[in-house]
Amino acid sequence: MAYRFDILTLFPGLFSGLRQESLLGKALDAGTLDLQLHDWRRFTTDKHHTADDAPFGGGAGLLLKPDPVVACLQDLQTKQPFASPVLLLSPAGRLFRQQDAHAWAQGPGLTLLCGRYEGFDARVETSVDDVISIGDYVLNGGEVAAMVILEAVARLIPGVIGNAASLHDESHADGLLEYPQYTRPRTFAGQDVPDILLSGDHAKIAQWRRQQRLQRTRQRRPDLLVNATLSAQDAGFLAALDALGPPEPGRP
Ligand code: SAM
Repeated sequence: MAYRFDILTLFPGLFSGLRQESLLGKALDAGTLDLQLHDWRRFTTDKHHTADDAPFGGGAGLLLKPDPVVACLQDLQTKQPFASPVLLLSPAGRLFRQQDAHAWAQGPGLTLLCGRYEGFDARVETSVDDVISIGDYVLNGGEVAAMVILEAVARLIPGVIGNAASLHDESHADGLLEYPQYTRPRTFAGQDVPDILLSGDHAKIAQWRRQQRLQRTRQRRPDLLVNATLSAQDAGFLAALDALGPPEPGRP
């Protein structure tokens, strides 16, 4: 059965590019993924199809009314009953992480609510399973945030990525950033590919890559090391780096 994304949005046209994009487009065509867009303006009841209104208590901007979006969600859940988590997208939500993508990829699908304007009336939150932010910044709407989650989850669904092995060593797969990678030419802009990668010694290459991951994570995202799974050898390598002093700012 296809992994199904249901997206509730006032701007379904924004997703048309995704349908044509190579890997996702192919997975949709092949029936590995299913993408259903639901414009909840259909569930407004006034003649102007108003989806927003002024906030009680005053303040700038307009808020999304709760009734049409919740009616749209209930209609979806009644007509196509489906045990997928319902996520409301908001910069005031819990931060989205790679481990969420892995957890959601295990299920049958995801339902994503995209806000606009000043966001949703707070009572919509009682109809969802989680409130999710993709980062500490504010977008104009939830559609791009939904695409971020959709793409991060979709590439973990079996059959979407050609070479599933490429998922194992990636940044965030196990709490560390990826090691630096190189392809031809051997020299570019005065920079040589590290000799070790040309040595053919796979054990040494694996050790070098592990150390590069640790070094890069320590420099760029030291916060990740707190939760990363580290061997005694990893800890020893990091301690040796620490003994040399704090990481230099900039690239490793
Ligand atoms: N007034 C809201 C606040 O300060 O929290 C911001 C509303 S934002 C302009 C409009 C919509 O964009 C939100 O309802 C949400 O769906 C989406 N959005 C903006 N930034 C987001 C983020 N970092 N993560 C997820 N969704 C976001």
